[in-house]
Amino acid sequence: MTRREGKLGLYRLSISEARELLDKRKITAKELLNAIYQRIASVDSKVKAFVTLSKEQAYEMADASQKEINAGRSSALSGIPLAIKDNMCTKGIRTTCSSKILADFIPPYESTVTSKLGENGYILIGKTNLDEFAMGSSTENSGFFTTKNPWDIERIPGGSSGGSAAAVAADECIAALGSDTGGSIRQPAALCGVVGLKPTYGRVSRYGLVAFASSLDQIGPITKNVKDSAILLNIISGNDSCDSTSAPIAVPDFTKVLGNEIKGLKIGIPREYFIKGMGREIEKSVKGAIKKLESLGAIPVEISLPHTEYAVATYYVLATSEASSNLARYDGVKYGFRAAGRDSQREGKDLMEMYMNTRAQGFGAEVKRRIILGTYTLSSGYYDAYYKKAQQVRTHIKRDFEEAFKAVDVIATPTSPTPAFKIGEKADDPLKMYLSDIFTISVNLAGIPAISIPCGFTSSNLPVGLQIIGKHFDEETILKAAYAYEQSTDWHKRKPNL
Ligand code: GLN
Repeated sequence: MTRREGKLGLYRLSISEARELLDKRKITAKELLNAIYQRIASVDSKVKAFVTLSKEQAYEMADASQKEINAGRSSALSGIPLAIKDNMCTKGIRTTCSSKILADFIPPYESTVTSKLGENGYILIGKTNLDEFAMGSSTENSGFFTTKNPWDIERIPGGSSGGSAAAVAADECIAALGSDTGGSIRQPAALCGVVGLKPTYGRVSRYGLVAFASSLDQIGPITKNVKDSAILLNIISGNDSCDSTSAPIAVPDFTKVLGNEIKGLKIGIPREYFIKGMGREIEKSVKGAIKKLESLGAIPVEISLPHTEYAVATYYVLATSEASSNLARYDGVKYGFRAAGRDSQREGKDLMEMYMNTRAQGFGAEVKRRIILGTYTLSSGYYDAYYKKAQQVRTHIKRDFEEAFKAVDVIATPTSPTPAFKIGEKADDPLKMYLSDIFTISVNLAGIPAISIPCGFTSSNLPVGLQIIGKHFDEETILKAAYAYEQSTDWHKRKPNL
């Protein structure tokens, strides 16, 4: 904080910095929360990161946390204001998925991740914007509004966790959670110049995360630095009886490996990821980052992931198939919005008409496109040609990584082929939009962990992200490498001028 701003500058703090000041009683939870809400009041009309602010509950949570702190019983997140992507259920607080169909949905239960944050004393400040049902790479598919990139408000923040990434980059929260089905944590983190981690599939419980593609979805932290990422991962990880896909695997203390040296660490550089069509400045920054890692003792090794060219097609068959099935539940009966009938008195002449009106009015264009695509690929006669074939290719993609990891410890790639693009630039061309996920989706198909960290800026001052991919359940090694890199660079310290 600067002297002039006094305690109002507290919004700049990271989790670990805030923890120290709170525990030493240099600041109170309420002062920190005031600073955050002031910051939101002064910049969110530009950034538009939040769908809902939960002020009243936040101040209650701050009081409760302060009592714990005063009693010398503070937990890892006591008094720390966090933002949550609006596809994770928060009991009593609207959870919309940025969809009109859930615009008034107030969950009667809490997601496992937010319960765990709650047990650790966090303060929920609000729910962040996303592409409707997390389908997109820019937040332009939000049913409400587009979030702006804090580095250039004419550009997208990435997506689908664009609201969370923008809020962290703009210091509108201390840190946030996002979800990642095909890149939705890492790509917005890269485009906003912050740290985003997608854990191994099964590391974090998905209970209470509104399902998009259940075999790919995973929740993870979006933070100002690598240490905060490890702190949040410690809290949200672990087996959960409410989610049978969460793994019964021990959770290490992820902060322990930070600061360990990376001498001799073998870093795979996949040939297929340095392709034509990638922005020149992206390539330069990422290659520079690999050099830096080398100077810290890591050993770059060229590798091949031969099925990379099929990843986008495979993902968009599987993700849309799963989405079409998951989104069948929004029928106007069980959840949320129900369309009024033509004379607005009745809901349709029969049940079918009510279903059709509700879904036609409740879902946006991209969600409908995916339901149609996914229904097609799952339908009899086409199932074998599309869904089954895609599952087979998925196995090949997974094996590519298994093969590569026999020779290397981690894999380094760009997170996104371009920096943040202009709002509207790809909005009318879904294929172009889908291609921007080229470097992130293989990781979801393989179920492995990956982190994106800032590794440079373009000449027009837009952030560039480096992706570090790890073996199954080996988040420790990617965090260790990411931390070593971060500590030897200053990229993460730069702030957008808002
Ligand atoms: N951009 C990808 C998609 O549109 C990934 C989204 C995500 O990870 N939720 O599906």
